[in-house]
Amino acid sequence: MSSRRQFIKDSSISAAALLLATSGFGGIVIGKRPKVIILGAGFAGLAAAHFLHKKKIDFIILEARNRIGGRVFSHTIDEKENLIIELGAEWVGNSHERLINLSNEFGLELLNNQFESHLIYKGEYFKPGQWDYSEGWKKKFQSIIDNYPKLSQADKLKLDKMDWWRFLVNNGCEGRDLDLRELLDSTDFGETIRSVSAFAALAEYAESSEKNEMDLKIKGGNSMLAKRIAEKIGADKIKLQHAVKRVVQNLKGGVTVYCENGQQFTADKLICTAPTFAVKKIKWEPGLPADQVNAMNELQYARINKNPVLFEKRFWEDESFDMVTDQSPHYFYHATKNQSSKKGVLISYTIGEKAAVVANQSDDWKKEMILQTLSPHFKNVKDNWERQTNYYWGNDEFSRGAYALYGKGQWFRVMPILKRSHIHTHFAGEHLADWQGFMEGAINTGEEAAEKI
Ligand SMILES: Cc1cc2nc3c(=O)[nH]c(=O)nc-3n(C[C@H](O)[C@H](O)[C@H](O)COP(=O)(O)OP(=O)(O)OC[C@H]3O[C@@H](n4cnc5c(N)ncnc54)[C@H](O)[C@@H]3O)c2cc1C
Repeated sequence: MSSRRQFIKDSSISAAALLLATSGFGGIVIGKRPKVIILGAGFAGLAAAHFLHKKKIDFIILEARNRIGGRVFSHTIDEKENLIIELGAEWVGNSHERLINLSNEFGLELLNNQFESHLIYKGEYFKPGQWDYSEGWKKKFQSIIDNYPKLSQADKLKLDKMDWWRFLVNNGCEGRDLDLRELLDSTDFGETIRSVSAFAALAEYAESSEKNEMDLKIKGGNSMLAKRIAEKIGADKIKLQHAVKRVVQNLKGGVTVYCENGQQFTADKLICTAPTFAVKKIKWEPGLPADQVNAMNELQYARINKNPVLFEKRFWEDESFDMVTDQSPHYFYHATKNQSSKKGVLISYTIGEKAAVVANQSDDWKKEMILQTLSPHFKNVKDNWERQTNYYWGNDEFSRGAYALYGKGQWFRVMPILKRSHIHTHFAGEHLADWQGFMEGAINTGEEAAEKI
């Protein structure tokens, strides 16, 4: 099966070959090990560093924030009860081999984090087993998934030109089936499925585990992996609060990186793992090629708002509780599954425009919104409410979104351009991965960039 991965790999290999032929990249360090600067201490940057550390290649990581992990951001919401939630990435997928291997390598336990979905739709509440797609649509969708391995490259390119909502409609999805798919699938992509490439969506559903990679979670929080990698490579190798503002690449060899705090660093190569919003803010000398700048201008990131609520009791009872709604809070899930305490956290997860609206409102407004949805169907919601917090990724200073959103016609056209190396710089990050939008994708691209060096 020619997967998304294979296609992108092939295009990046040819881009790298082209670069070797035209700029002599890689030729400057014959006989000595290169020194590498890694921009960003998210999972891509840390995975690259871990790879270089094993190969005994010298590197330094420059990270703009005052913490490592990037969009992996575990947060202790109740110190006394030691309740840890994720403000960023939540699920480790069963297919996410490198992430699982690294967790094993560092002795981190992976806990089951699968859910049985409840539903609120048109004012009615359904428990798991009480709701489903129509028999006709289930059969049709299965046949679409079964047909996926038979798609030719031309079929895939054609699919990429269409949005996922249109593709579903064209395949006979309508009424309640279409409403449900829109609610569930937009939760995965973080924006309406009218903005999602039909190829990107179909590939994700056809290549993912049964629960769509919502399978596991690292005990103690997903940030534990970042912490363990940092310990292994040496904390002195990571410079926090070093926001890179300017990158000067010498065509004859070498790259100098200037930070906002006045520090500067020189190396043979740069691995840049920043999301495109942050890459564009850097002053590149020589400038990035026009098509790469255009690609960055085109690519959007999904707006996701997480509003965790700490409750004194887990009134939802089922530990594997999650719930899709057609109301403003959009999606709820039990964020403290497998963490023993009477208290528990439900996260209200909103996407797209809903996320932007919710994020701008007061705490009281957010509380009222959640109570309005839950109270008609669950007892004691208000009485058990302890407190809430909120993180809106649409306003995150470095990513301006949760993860990249490949729209109509962008998967095969935009990603290969963004993946192309620029003089002594290799790019990495979730937005360039086959497992795009996942921690696994960040790790894969970080390791691939390090491997090129
Ligand atoms: C709300 C949300 C939910 C998610 N859910 C899941 C999930 O369930 N499962 C899953 O696998 N993935 C999920 N993801 C996606 C996952 O978090 C990302 O794919 C992954 O963490 C991205 O890693 P990265 O290294 O590519 O980028 P980042 O983590 O963004 O790392 C890049 C780093 O570069 C730094 N940086 C940026 N600019 C500069 C600069 N100029 N100078 C120095 N440093 C700079 C940033 O501060 C950042 O630390 C989710 C993400 C979000 C936000």
